[in-house]
Amino acid sequence: MRRNNGFFFLITTTLIFISLISAHYLNKRHQLINANITQTANDALHQLTYSEYEYDGARTQLASIVELLSQGLNLYEYVLNPTEPNQHLVERGWASVARNQKWYTQIRFINTQGKEAIQLDYSRADGSVESNHHYQDISDRAFFKYAETLKEGEVGHWSIDLEMENGQYTIPYRPALRIISPVTTKGKRYGYLVLNVDVEYLVSRLNFAATDEFAPEFINENGFYLLSSVSNKIFGHLLEERKAFNFKSLYPDAWLVMESKKNGFVLDQGNLFVFNKVSIAPNQYIYMVVHIDPESLYQRSQASVNDLFLEGLFFILLVLTFTIPITVAMFYYRKRSSESQLARAALSGMSAVLISDREHLAIKINDEFTKLTGLNFEQVEFKDAIRNLLGSAHDDIYQQMLKIVMEQGVWEGEISFTPLEKTEQVTAIMRVQSVCTHASKVSYYISSIVDITERKALEHQLRRLSEKDALTNLWNRRKFEAELSNSAKQVERYPNAIHGCLALLDIDHFKRVNDELGHDEGDRVISVVGKSLLLLLRETDFIARIGGEEFAILMPHTPLSEAKLALNRLREGIELDDNIPITVSIGLTKLSADTKHCYKVADNALYQSKSQGRNRISVWDEEQ
Ligand code: GH3
Ligand code: MG
Ligand code: MG
Repeated sequence: MRRNNGFFFLITTTLIFISLISAHYLNKRHQLINANITQTANDALHQLTYSEYEYDGARTQLASIVELLSQGLNLYEYVLNPTEPNQHLVERGWASVARNQKWYTQIRFINTQGKEAIQLDYSRADGSVESNHHYQDISDRAFFKYAETLKEGEVGHWSIDLEMENGQYTIPYRPALRIISPVTTKGKRYGYLVLNVDVEYLVSRLNFAATDEFAPEFINENGFYLLSSVSNKIFGHLLEERKAFNFKSLYPDAWLVMESKKNGFVLDQGNLFVFNKVSIAPNQYIYMVVHIDPESLYQRSQASVNDLFLEGLFFILLVLTFTIPITVAMFYYRKRSSESQLARAALSGMSAVLISDREHLAIKINDEFTKLTGLNFEQVEFKDAIRNLLGSAHDDIYQQMLKIVMEQGVWEGEISFTPLEKTEQVTAIMRVQSVCTHASKVSYYISSIVDITERKALEHQLRRLSEKDALTNLWNRRKFEAELSNSAKQVERYPNAIHGCLALLDIDHFKRVNDELGHDEGDRVISVVGKSLLLLLRETDFIARIGGEEFAILMPHTPLSEAKLALNRLREGIELDDNIPITVSIGLTKLSADTKHCYKVADNALYQSKSQGRNRISVWDEEQ
């Protein structure tokens, strides 16, 4: 259970820390991604502002060029006198402008009927300039109609559309931005100077960044793409197959925001759109839009998010580095402290406890041990306390204990010792148990000693009571039989030794005492005879009351003749002893190996005394 608690604590602590750190870093990640979006948007806006500025600059520059060219002397000569040499002069001047400026894909002079009269094509790829003599009639084209509306000296911008050749869009599609100015001399309009601006070059000029990550897309007021690095989505308003590429319908939410502001950024479907609304001609706007798709947006923040992730991971590992050892330490501390509490509780419990090392040298004892043995810790420290306690007299017990503990791990037995500065012996139950390591090596021994002195005394007393006769305090019949059997064994074992005698003694005419003086008086007489027996016989003699007024006497190491003399003295003593005349009859025989036979012959001898007149001793000597 405790182990589970510890484990639970470990998991909980770790999870809480990891959750806190994760929550913190998730929040930080969110902030980081937002900050990254804002940063990206600001960078792109910066780009778009630059683009607008550049665009304005370029437009002014283009306007002044077109103005200059439309009022050029060569062109003036040509319109008045459209000869081939004059045309060559114009073309030569334009070629030089085209090569230097690199802005234009075409420079044309279109007459008032809408027919091309001079056309110069410039290729930025190889820097070549060519006169194009495939003059077309463009009087139907919208930009020509627009040109006709221009006043003298005015410079007009025709929005970006596709270049055409013979009424067909040139393939590959070439976007064109046209700048137009009427060519007028002395109030007469001769035609129009039309410059097709190289839109791709223009766009490349509008993008200051080294990469085209922030390359703006140009979107007209109706949401169609005019310019994009994805070239197949432009001119949806002109090309049927591309009409699906419409910003307004693809990203309506973003469009709403874009319409409402001059510039800014908006997120739509995970895409970031940074926009700047730019006026390209009076009442004509385009949107410059930097589009960062979700994947690119993710990539942009990924490096920082990865850094953040590593930082978070580092902190989680740092926390784990601290929490795991601390938790494990706490867990083991709790376990150890509960174990030591348990050990202390056991040590201060009821029994005396001694803890000794593998050499049986004492390393700890409890108060009970000191109380029981009189030995304090200073007296037993690093000493073999058990051996000292048992003393050299009980070395056999000590050796047996060592052997059994070594073999079985535990020994239990009864010991006795005399506590220090005491005289009375203590009897105790001692249990010695070895405590082993995982490798089954003994680390230490725990010995507990329980004092059973009082219990022993009580047992002894009870045993005595069960063997004594209550009236006379002599041994009873049971004890007599055990003692007789003991003596018989001695005879059997040492047949040549001098053995003792058995005498049976019976009070004469005792019935009369009872009858004449009462039962109590009879009891008193029995008691008086018992005292006389104790008084007049040897201390080594065994005296028992074996029946109502019958006694048995075992006289060890006493020959029959001596026994007879002693018993005669006894008989006479009893006769003289009391105020009422008491006599006893005795039957005497030698102890033998056969208890039944021995008793029987003694009883026979007693019967003989009774029958011969009482107050006498009869001896049954089988050897005679
Ligand atoms: P004998 O000389 O032949 O032995 O005669 P007796 O009267 O002693 O005969 P017996 O041994 O047969 O009788 C013993 C009597 O002792 C019988 C019984 O009433 C009495 N008696 C036995 N035990 C006790 C006792 O504990 N107290 C008393 N007061 N009388 C007892
Ligand atoms: Mg009797
Ligand atoms: Mg009798």
